Amino acid sequence: MFSVKEAEAIVFNLVQPLDRQRDTEVVDLLSANSRILASPVSSQLDFPHWDNSAMDGYAVRYTDVQQASQEQPVSLEIVEDIPAGYQPQSTIQQGQAARIFTGAVMPTSADTVVMQERTRREDNRVLILAAPTKPQEFVRHRACYYKAGTQLLPAGVRLHGTEIAVLAAAQCTQVSVFRRLRVAIFSTGDELVTPDKPLQPGQIVDSNQYALAALVKQIGAEPLMLGIVPDKPDALEEAIAHAISNADVVLSSGGVSVGDYDYVERIIESLGGEIHIQAVAMKPGKPLTVATFTNQVIYFGLPGNPVSALVTFWRFVQPTIKKISGLAEGWQPKFVKARTRHQLRSDGKRETYFWGQLHLTDGVYEFQVAGGSQNSGNLINIAQTNALAVLLVGQTLISQGEEVQVLLV
Ligand code: AMP
Ligand code: MG
Repeated sequence: MFSVKEAEAIVFNLVQPLDRQRDTEVVDLLSANSRILASPVSSQLDFPHWDNSAMDGYAVRYTDVQQASQEQPVSLEIVEDIPAGYQPQSTIQQGQAARIFTGAVMPTSADTVVMQERTRREDNRVLILAAPTKPQEFVRHRACYYKAGTQLLPAGVRLHGTEIAVLAAAQCTQVSVFRRLRVAIFSTGDELVTPDKPLQPGQIVDSNQYALAALVKQIGAEPLMLGIVPDKPDALEEAIAHAISNADVVLSSGGVSVGDYDYVERIIESLGGEIHIQAVAMKPGKPLTVATFTNQVIYFGLPGNPVSALVTFWRFVQPTIKKISGLAEGWQPKFVKARTRHQLRSDGKRETYFWGQLHLTDGVYEFQVAGGSQNSGNLINIAQTNALAVLLVGQTLISQGEEVQVLLV
């Protein structure tokens, strides 16, 4: 049985990101939201595109106004009005200025902007009442933010509002993104029924498939829901064979313990899969099967217990999917330190995960363990979970108010 750290290293090393040439599609700008950029983006435009004013005021020659003061103002002739969006027509000669507005293009020969608040207008002249603090004050120079042809965004970033803004400004209306990862999901168990069926004695609803499909979607992959597969070797073999030839990642839940009806591992091997992990020293989640097939597909046989399935998904599957999806940075699990609001106890034998909520209170992270039973079969108190507190092997008690490692989910 592997430790969580060992299992994590094995799993993350089994997979590689999608191919930057083959595994991409071109989408329009708005559809690129939440997708992952497949190629670096550059622009042929400089930012700003031209020298422009950072203020409403007057475009001047610095040498004309460097001695200006309240007592000895400098009077300049106004030769042009330049609103944003217009090409200036005049060249500013000695003793002249142009009225200019924020974002408007600087006229030729003017090198400095004097803000309106330091001037007084007199018909077609302006009095400069204070010298600029330096030459070129309040001018945004062409290319001072970005030089045409250099990299604007690297491959592997997830595109959200801020990145979409940059792409739009660069007139990048078509974007090359990684294709969505296909994740096949099915549940195993004779006791399972879909949520729309009345329950017969002994039956339970297959909640795992819905939970996993929602989580897969949430991280930008495409779930293929393959349904409920009974605990029969033939049916399981058919489902697994179908899944591995139609998806990049396969998630099954149930059937990976040591029970009499737990066939998953045997079938994976019979289909040519290589099993890398059969169990991990964690609670919940000990029975976890990880296998790969020669076509690069990775198979996660998650435990059937609803909370175990979720905890192992968050701990191993979610980062793996993000890595394969092409995310260059930040695909790894994220931990923070938080103060626990309640004491947390474990027998110290396996790495133990408590589900609950992370709160930010007066600038300090606090972990609120979910009330009710912290039992892997109890799904009822999992709603609103956004974090898992972790007690390492050997840690048996973290008292109220003490610090605990928390995994963000
Ligand atoms: P197993 O790993 O197949 O031994 O299942 C462990 C426990 O989880 C059993 O009590 C199952 O009834 C329950 N379980 C298995 N699969 C699911 C599922 N898809 N949805 C909800 N509970 C499940
Ligand atoms: Mg089962």
